[in-house]
Amino acid sequence: MALLIDDNCTSCDACPSVCPNDAISTGDPIYVIDPFKCTECVGGHDEPQCKLVCPADCIVPNPDYSESPDELMAKYESLHG
Ligand code: SF4
Ligand code: SF4
Repeated sequence: MALLIDDNCTSCDACPSVCPNDAISTGDPIYVIDPFKCTECVGGHDEPQCKLVCPADCIVPNPDYSESPDELMAKYESLHG
């Protein structure tokens, strides 16, 4: 399942650099996770790195993108060739 950033984001800029898939970009006004790139860190780390560093606790599951661990790994592999 991809994650998404909700309205509590303070645009602190802590999360983009920790994403292994370069899935997080600056939005207007809050930051945005590309659901086609977010693997919930499957393939890169044991747990979502953006959630670990987010001081606002505003990164939550995206209900529109519920994928299995195998599907997330396939997504990771397709992104990293
Ligand atoms: S969960 Fe991982 S892959 Fe998804 S946006 Fe956060 S850091 Fe990137
Ligand atoms: S770490 Fe959290 S508050 Fe900071 S930019 Fe990312 S989502 Fe927003």
